[in-house]
Amino acid sequence: MSVPHRARKRFGQNFLVDGNIIRKIVAAIAPRPGDNLVEIGPGLGALTRPVLEASGHLRVVEIDRDLIARLGDEFAGQALEIHQGDALKFDFGALGGDLRVIGNLPYNISTPILFHLSEYAERIRDMTFMLQKEVVERMVAEPGGADYGRLSVMLQYRFRVDKQFDVAPGAFRPVPKVTSAIVRLTPRPAQELGARDAALLARIVSAAFGQRRKTLRNTLRDFADQAGLAELGIDPGLRGERLSVDDFVRIANRCADAGMRAS
Ligand code: SAM
Repeated sequence: MSVPHRARKRFGQNFLVDGNIIRKIVAAIAPRPGDNLVEIGPGLGALTRPVLEASGHLRVVEIDRDLIARLGDEFAGQALEIHQGDALKFDFGALGGDLRVIGNLPYNISTPILFHLSEYAERIRDMTFMLQKEVVERMVAEPGGADYGRLSVMLQYRFRVDKQFDVAPGAFRPVPKVTSAIVRLTPRPAQELGARDAALLARIVSAAFGQRRKTLRNTLRDFADQAGLAELGIDPGLRGERLSVDDFVRIANRCADAGMRAS
């Protein structure tokens, strides 16, 4: 018997231990034989084991070398392909198309990993993640509320975002302070996207939410003058949180038409 693993806070390690919750998450993932699956942060293998069993093949990306050694021992001879490294720097494009990404994501990297994965959206079939409930609420938020921001707009532009269910802290060891939730992201087809310059859209959205309390007249000064916003039917006296994803796309396209580029 190997010694128990000591959970590392800096890697956001809270391991799933509740069998019912694990089954529910695997049912939400619905792995099938032949699926092109990759798991971020397999940890001690709570999701890895049942997903590998159902799919027959699985890749994992894990940063913690101690856990890599354990996984290597436990899954020796099985169709588990282990990559040691930082998922934030990992080239998911090298894994082929129709990719299904899963993971109980470390809380400390949840927003950057979502933006990193957005860059590979064309190669992804779907992504099912466990995240802090508060982050999932920001991901699915609609215009007008305090949860709505850059994360909501940029993810909802690229993906359909569907919250699945909450997971209480007691399902993990060590027990985290916060409730978690499962969320599924499904890339929107290219013809639905609409922004002529996605990088310009990203810059405009960042500017609009950079200073949340300021109005569009101020935050978007470098992008669209008041008359330009008014012509789009958008009141320059509003704050960014009132605009829909489509409003941001229309502003970005107007800027692109005027010859503006992201860089
Ligand atoms: N999947 C396991 C479970 O559900 O019990 C572990 C989940 S734990 C919340 C997060 C896992 O992600 C840990 O195994 C941690 O070492 C790993 N991790 C943390 N930062 C990472 C990174 N930047 N790249 C890859 N894995 C990371």
